[in-house]
Amino acid sequence: MVDNLTPEARSRRMARIGGKNTLPEMVVRKMAHGMGYRFRLHRRDLPGTPDLVFPGRKKVVMVHGCYWHGHGCKIGRLPKSNVGFWQEKIERNRARDERNLLDLRKLGWKTLVVWQCETRRPEELRKSLRRFLGTPPKKPIDRDRARR
Ligand SMILES: [Zn+2]
Repeated sequence: MVDNLTPEARSRRMARIGGKNTLPEMVVRKMAHGMGYRFRLHRRDLPGTPDLVFPGRKKVVMVHGCYWHGHGCKIGRLPKSNVGFWQEKIERNRARDERNLLDLRKLGWKTLVVWQCETRRPEELRKSLRRFLGTPPKKPIDRDRARR
């Protein structure tokens, strides 16, 4: 396999465990879009490459897998074998998450973390997105319909 990444870029990519475009992330994107919000994805110029970026509102939403980011919920529970190894990895992820959130806030961004397990309760998730993001703009699709 040809690998054009610099060592630094590669380790950044490797560090992004769970990767982009995960199922929980897609759920959040679809929901936010359906509610009428418009956003950018994975802006690399921001700490932690936030999953959803709402530049006009200066807000970002990070979608965290419960396991890799160490959520204390049912999904996030550690496996029984090799606990030390995973624990260490997850602790590192958590520390990085904290740092990224802090850096984002220092730059004046408001942040919301959506956990994987929260994407299983769409009604509550919709409410918390609405609460965090504020009033959605009018949907362009509605204007299109009105014109016809
Ligand atoms: Zn969870």
